[in-house]
Amino acid sequence: MIARSIAFVLLCGLTAPLNAQTLPPAATVFQNVRIFDGKVGQLSGPSHVLIRGNKIERISTDPIPTDGSATTMLIDGGGRTLMPGLIDAHWHAMLIRVTPAQSFGDVGYNNLVAGAEATDTLMRGFTTVRDLGGPTFGLKAAIDEGVLPGPRIYPSGAVITVTSGHGDFRQLTDLPRTIGGMLSRMEQVGGAMVADSPDEVRVRTREQLMQGASQIKLTAGGGVSSPFSPVDVTTFTEAELRAAVEAAENWGTYVATHAFTPTAIQRSIAAGVKVIEHGMLMDEATAKLMAEKGIWLSMQPIPEALVLGFPVGSVQRAKAEEVWLGIGPTYELAKKYKLKTAWGTDVLFSRALAQQQGAILASLTRWYTPAEALIMATSTNAELLALSGKRNPYPGKLGVVEEGALADLLLVDGDPIANIKLIEDPAKNFVLIMKDGKIYKNTVPR
Ligand SMILES: [Zn+2]
Repeated sequence: MIARSIAFVLLCGLTAPLNAQTLPPAATVFQNVRIFDGKVGQLSGPSHVLIRGNKIERISTDPIPTDGSATTMLIDGGGRTLMPGLIDAHWHAMLIRVTPAQSFGDVGYNNLVAGAEATDTLMRGFTTVRDLGGPTFGLKAAIDEGVLPGPRIYPSGAVITVTSGHGDFRQLTDLPRTIGGMLSRMEQVGGAMVADSPDEVRVRTREQLMQGASQIKLTAGGGVSSPFSPVDVTTFTEAELRAAVEAAENWGTYVATHAFTPTAIQRSIAAGVKVIEHGMLMDEATAKLMAEKGIWLSMQPIPEALVLGFPVGSVQRAKAEEVWLGIGPTYELAKKYKLKTAWGTDVLFSRALAQQQGAILASLTRWYTPAEALIMATSTNAELLALSGKRNPYPGKLGVVEEGALADLLLVDGDPIANIKLIEDPAKNFVLIMKDGKIYKNTVPR
């Protein structure tokens, strides 16, 4: 046993430095592809793209000579489309395949099912997700270490909420809460933290930052799925929101708030919040304010199936219907005032809906051209990710196909700008998926 351990240590000790020092980083050359670069709404002419290590090194209309070495992989694109990996700006990696009750249950089980879902997420062509609540730090680390395939995760950690606010999934039997007393199960697993004063908000914010949060998420108003928060309510006081903003900004990053109503949005902005999640009940004056202050709108074209998933006659169903009706008008305001608009899905507790991730993106064509929708889910979402500043866990350019950018790429069998429906069937149409220069799927015919 001891001998075997020594042998293992020796092998690891020898091979890792040898690989790192003597071999050039692996390279991939995509030959004869047309490029959607994430910024311009049309494909390039026939091109060739060299990936070395985890970056796009060269893009050329002329063939790129290769050294013919075994570490260089040649992909015959056959005129297919090379585009940036997709980005979902509002995701909950830990809360897709579990039920709400399970999400407070066995942590090991929850991480395993979230891992399986993360692999599926990557296989749908989503190479990055911005996670807006849930204990994702372990999952993120495991993916980054190569334990399992999955997207890059920009984690918020626990959602921070007030007593009875959106994200407070405790039961009435959990009341009253004693400040400084025992944590609820929801808080112990890191799904959401309750904070009812600026001091408590500061502590909870700093705890998420300590664990590696790339941004902080607070719920500034009521929500649909929470049992005890009406949609119209405003929750945190301005001073409480500002406590989170100060702590996040001192740490070099920013706060995003869940907010539907004009009051919740405006109070967030007054406190220094940079990103409004949802915003579906906003009015014209609020849209104008967001435009003036350069505040991001992180929106989701929630599918009707999500609304219909709540039982008829339930409080949640009524709330969902109210919010759902606001999606169209909010997109119209976002266009009218040219708001910086990110796209996300906010799928919760539904593996079936998660499988529609591409279709939810394609549904944006109710308000945007296919090119605009694809630009939003690539370079625009990447701009939002960059707000994390020095707390960006993946420094480098995402969401674009350009020299020097990180190599998160999809090879699409067809032209997704001409036919955005292609992204609804990733198993068939995404013939190659690359993240960080590494190929995770390759069904290109040889
Ligand atoms: Zn959400």
